Amino acid sequence: MEEWQKILQASITDIKTLPARLQPGENSPLLHKVIADFPLRINPYFLQLIEEVGDPLWLQAIPQATEGEDCSCIYDPLGEEKQSPVPNLVHKYPDRVLLLISNQCAMYCRFCTRKRKVGSAKKMKMRSSDFSAACDYLKKHKEVSEVLLSGGDPLLLVDEKIDEILSQIYNIPNISVIRIGSRTLSTLPMRITDRLVAILRKYHPLYINTQFNHPKELTEEAKKACRKLADAGIPLGNQTVLLKGVNDSPQIIEELMRSLLQMRVKPYYLFQGDLSLGTNHFRTPIESGIAIMRHLYKNLSGMATPTFAIDAPDGSGKIPLTPDYIKEISSKSLVFENIQGNICTYPQVQQE
Ligand SMILES: *Cc1c(COP(=O)(O)O)cnc(C)c1O
Ligand code: SF4
Repeated sequence: MEEWQKILQASITDIKTLPARLQPGENSPLLHKVIADFPLRINPYFLQLIEEVGDPLWLQAIPQATEGEDCSCIYDPLGEEKQSPVPNLVHKYPDRVLLLISNQCAMYCRFCTRKRKVGSAKKMKMRSSDFSAACDYLKKHKEVSEVLLSGGDPLLLVDEKIDEILSQIYNIPNISVIRIGSRTLSTLPMRITDRLVAILRKYHPLYINTQFNHPKELTEEAKKACRKLADAGIPLGNQTVLLKGVNDSPQIIEELMRSLLQMRVKPYYLFQGDLSLGTNHFRTPIESGIAIMRHLYKNLSGMATPTFAIDAPDGSGKIPLTPDYIKEISSKSLVFENIQGNICTYPQVQQE
């Protein structure tokens, strides 16, 4: 067994075995229901980063009874089921598809968008016949040029399985780019072994997008994992989820984005929280994300600035949300506000 597998195997999955100082208060029947619906898994690596109840890492990892009181969110928040022509494959945009290849994660994030799929074999079956059907679908749909592998976390599969899946997709002629979404860089960076990196680098152009939500996740181990991947020529992107009490502040997001850029991880998206059932207590007002973006545009390098986006609840996809800098567009000119708040104009092309 590899080191990362041993760490994962030592995960806490029963609330009773969580250290007393990190317990989520009352051990109510509601909390048990919450965990039965979406399991607890917190591995020893992530556990040692948590300092106290209610801190940004505790909130992400530890279940609370409030998850079970949520009535305003929904089961399939991105309308993925109706856009799934083949099991585990979501085809929403013409040129790219999402393919779910794992139902496990190194930690179960309490705000997960895909709670309905993740955490048990019952929620999402991983049949090889379904994977073959997905490959057939990709071969037939020549308009698809990019495959996003996600889950769950694809990097929780064993090396051999990852190699096999990547090689099958890589050999489909119309697929020119593979992207892997994995949170292991934050939640279990030891997963990025030299052996895994040697497999991944055979399938370029291969991109990895990860999810760091708070500067406390940027440990020496996480930095090392990013370094190994970047050194193997794998461009790294980051998708942060805006979460109440965790990172909903301009200063925290600024620090996170700055540090990620230094780690060769390009901030890609900042997401407004999806309406995933049990996550209402994490949701922030839209204005708060817009205000954070105003702060980033003013204070941060363009390289470190992500796109703030919302994924529409009816399955319509991602929509970028930007602060409104345009004041007026007329046939004569564009009037806009610059980053410092000054009013500027730009003349239109004059028609002959
Ligand atoms: C997010 C997503 C993608 C990728 O969108 P990008 O904007 O290219 O990152 C593709 N398919 C589905 C179903 C998605 O949810
Ligand atoms: S790693 Fe991603 S898929 Fe897994 S629980 Fe966290 S948010 Fe959900």
